Amino acid sequence: MTIEKILDKVKENNPKANFDLIKRAYVFAEKAHQGQKRNSGEDYIIHTLHTAYNLAEIKLNSTTIAAGLLHDVLEDTEITKKELEKEFGKEIAFLVEGVSKLGKIKYRGTERQVENFRKLFLATGKNIRVILIRLFDRLHNLETLNYQPPEKQKRIALESLEIYAPLAYRLGIGELKGQIEDLSFPYVFPDEYKKLINQVKDKYEEREKYLKKIKSVIIKKLRKEDIQPIEIQSRSKHYYSLWQKLKRYDNDLDKIYDLVALRIIVKDVEECYQTLGVIHKLWKPLPGRIKDYIALPKPNGYQSLHTTVFCIDGRIIEFQIKTKAMHKDAEFGIAAHWYYSEQKGLKAFLKKKITKAPEDELDWVKQLKDWQKETKDFSADRYLESLKIDFFSNRIFVFTPKGDVISLPENATPVDFAYAIHTDIGNHCHQARVNNKIARLEQPLQNSDIVEIIVNKNRKPSKDWFRFIKSGLSRTRIKRFFKTELEAWRKKRATTDKIRIRKERKETTVAKPQITVKKKTKILVAGQTGISINIAKCCSPSAKSQIKAYITKSHEASIHKADCENLKRAQKKWPQKIIEATWIEK
Ligand code: MN
Repeated sequence: MTIEKILDKVKENNPKANFDLIKRAYVFAEKAHQGQKRNSGEDYIIHTLHTAYNLAEIKLNSTTIAAGLLHDVLEDTEITKKELEKEFGKEIAFLVEGVSKLGKIKYRGTERQVENFRKLFLATGKNIRVILIRLFDRLHNLETLNYQPPEKQKRIALESLEIYAPLAYRLGIGELKGQIEDLSFPYVFPDEYKKLINQVKDKYEEREKYLKKIKSVIIKKLRKEDIQPIEIQSRSKHYYSLWQKLKRYDNDLDKIYDLVALRIIVKDVEECYQTLGVIHKLWKPLPGRIKDYIALPKPNGYQSLHTTVFCIDGRIIEFQIKTKAMHKDAEFGIAAHWYYSEQKGLKAFLKKKITKAPEDELDWVKQLKDWQKETKDFSADRYLESLKIDFFSNRIFVFTPKGDVISLPENATPVDFAYAIHTDIGNHCHQARVNNKIARLEQPLQNSDIVEIIVNKNRKPSKDWFRFIKSGLSRTRIKRFFKTELEAWRKKRATTDKIRIRKERKETTVAKPQITVKKKTKILVAGQTGISINIAKCCSPSAKSQIKAYITKSHEASIHKADCENLKRAQKKWPQKIIEATWIEK
């Protein structure tokens, strides 16, 4: 990696960039790190060059690229923030200081890790570019992780899996998330990694061959409809996400339809839908697996049409259809939307609202800031736990009736939703309506549910809520409510006589309701929920039976025992209508 390579990249992406600034940053960093070596034996500057190159590649502005080059001078050389500020101005000094870790002496172990995160997120709240520099810094550290001692390898890889990869995802840089995970995977789960590679090697090759065949068929058909695809690529699933998925599918590779998917890139949105039509005319789609992320983008900005079809020889294949711009967005995430800002000025850019992204960005930063505030007094362990659950665990995205997106941890309930909107709404949350139907307050929400909270000013939080709430923020807010109530009660006690207090005490202990937890069973059809289901009367499968689904004319899934005679007969006649199904316990 060289500075020339970076400058070429910048020239290509952003001819109006401040090349002088980038060169000056390079000269300064090179001098500061002179004589320092990485564990690999390479000059230290190579590391910062890699970091800066990746920032240039996702089209970030000159200031950020310069800060990328300088990102380790405060932590690893004698340079002070003052000097940096004098030489390069406040913003660059801030960015570099933001990614620098704290001194090693003051904190140790988990506490040090947590203090570093607090500091990193505080800086990110003020300038989100801090986190992007940090992510690419981490990417290169992972690429050279084999030069570190084993203990450090594992620690860094685990932290990357748990925190940095989900961060990249939330910023919409899906490709970076996949890279971080795949680089960390062999260090954190070495045996599982080896096993997976052995298991999929042939499958990947075989699948690729098959897709070549499909590719030529689809190109011909598209041309007939006057669609010239810009590119058709077969895209193999990243190993780590494949491994995660396999764990949910009994380790059965045949159930993973997107092991290798075909990605079709076309000119515009209209052609995306036309292409979808062409594919569905050719091959029957699987019900419940057509996803229109163009009309309804994922909350991290991802756009594309997905469909899974019964392809040649009855094999099940996933297609992803998108425009070139959508493809770039998925690679560059939030940064793709800043591209124009250097020429036009960020404020003008935000005002015009050319895209939705800057608002999302601010929203994300707002959540981060709120969360930082709420966790201010948390112990190191609790902070990490909350970080993983509230911020980066598998998230679901649900909607307010107005269409605003609220992000919650998996299995979050209407109460979590209410607290995510506002403490007062949480505290007085009385009833919930999910997709226009009255729902229990403890009902786990699903992706893209529309949730409405009915408040009642006389309603108060119940201790029973602790049993089912999922987000740490709800927990903190409910606890705070009880604390305030207790304080108010103590005050009152100080001014009333003793007899009356005894009575009140009695009342509070009696009022506690006993609620039994009902286990609810649900069924996944081809890995999906949300498909209408009926249980076949001929064999009435129970929760213990192995099951399969038969897709009816009205697109419902009729659930049979896997060995049901009726099902077997149907399978002979219409094998494409039989789909795998599994019970999930909630
Ligand atoms: Mn670094």
